[in-house]
Amino acid sequence: MSEPSHTAFCPQCQKDVPFIHRGQKIICQACGFYYLAQPAQPDGENEGERFGGRSILKSIAYVILIMIGIVVVGVAVLFAGCALMLGHSL
Ligand SMILES: [Zn+2]
Repeated sequence: MSEPSHTAFCPQCQKDVPFIHRGQKIICQACGFYYLAQPAQPDGENEGERFGGRSILKSIAYVILIMIGIVVVGVAVLFAGCALMLGHSL
């Protein structure tokens, strides 16, 4: 068992047979029928990467929102303080 194999339905044998993976080809061990491997796994990896990127963007957006919130609250406190000070001094 040097090559990875799996059992799948072969349209030529009309039954489930062990297929072996040889590069891009997935070959029926019983009759030699083969089909080209679909790049399904790379797509999954890309999806994972996209999800990872999205989560990173989400966390960056979250941090930016928090910073904006802090700045807004700080400015509001400063304005309130100034207003109070002006109100007291006037
Ligand atoms: Zn076959």
